[in-house]
Amino acid sequence: MELHSQRTLDIQAANNLSAAPIVSLVLPCYNEEEVLPETTSRLTALLAQWQAAGLVAPGSAIYYIDDGSRDRTWRMITEYAATSASVCGVKLSRNRGHQNALLCGLMTVPGQVLISLDADLQDDLEAIPRMVEKFREGNEIVLGVRSARVTDSFLKRFTAQGYYKLLAALGVEIVYDHADYRLMSRRAIETLREYKESHLFLRGLILQLGYQTAVVEFERASRFAGDSKYPVSKMLGLAWQGITSFTAYPLRLITGVGALVSVGSLSLATWALFVRIFTEQALPGWASVVIPMYFLGGVQLLSLGIIGEYLAKVYEASKQRPRFHVDRTCGENMQHAEVR
Ligand code: UDP
Ligand code: MG
Repeated sequence: MELHSQRTLDIQAANNLSAAPIVSLVLPCYNEEEVLPETTSRLTALLAQWQAAGLVAPGSAIYYIDDGSRDRTWRMITEYAATSASVCGVKLSRNRGHQNALLCGLMTVPGQVLISLDADLQDDLEAIPRMVEKFREGNEIVLGVRSARVTDSFLKRFTAQGYYKLLAALGVEIVYDHADYRLMSRRAIETLREYKESHLFLRGLILQLGYQTAVVEFERASRFAGDSKYPVSKMLGLAWQGITSFTAYPLRLITGVGALVSVGSLSLATWALFVRIFTEQALPGWASVVIPMYFLGGVQLLSLGIIGEYLAKVYEASKQRPRFHVDRTCGENMQHAEVR
């Protein structure tokens, strides 16, 4: 793998665990004008405090990744970047969704250690020093894991937990209650760069890297302001991504259901033959014809649908389209960054 010189230097510096690392906070934003002022003031204050305490090195900064927002988000980011050296921005050419925006951030911002978090202050910022401590103990990846789901509605809690269990049952490696709040070392980032897949489910993908990983618990707060940018449709999309990007189990399930239905109808036929030959009862006929017809029709459509889903993935992947385009950047640290 060919590494750019700055990235190589970052890896070497990050390997020196005795010195405080340059930490980059990566925050995807989509229409977040309501939360940005508070997020910026809290994070810049904390960065200064951590720097004074010798936890992070000078040059540590906040990187907002604007995911094609339609409101004042990008203008605000450029204003912050103009007045503060510790705020930078990257603007995607259009909305590509949270996972792609996050990937764009991870692939473009400089720094020895990258920490991804939401812009809405739901992730407890106090967990960051603990993450950096874990990194300095030799972990390349530190996962933020929610200790409780008290701020979630019952429905969200129930479906989320059910989903993690389903993934585990399907054999997908996943860390329970870990979303996208995590620390990654420069080496882990450079390894992630080699994964070219177009359907991202980062929380699953990161575990594939295999580097030494630690966990930090935190409590997730409610959104500071504004509405969730993750409506049910996007959430379902991400959930489906998680399954189809990591396991072919649904395809195998089709075979199983097909076999079961075939064996079932075979026994049904045997039974019908038995009734016809050995008893005097007139067969009603209707049910035995119509019900299997609808049932098998349904099974076939479902099966085709699932096969189609995977086929669509192969189609998307075979096009090998770029996953994001950077439109512009702002901030001191981004001036020499290798944007690609
Ligand atoms: N986000 C994004 N692109 C999108 C949707 C969301 O970059 O298309 C960002 C959003 O600005 C936030 C993070 O992803 O920083 C998580 O979104 P949100 O807080 O709305 O999700 P929730 O916490 O409700 O699951
Ligand atoms: Mg949120």
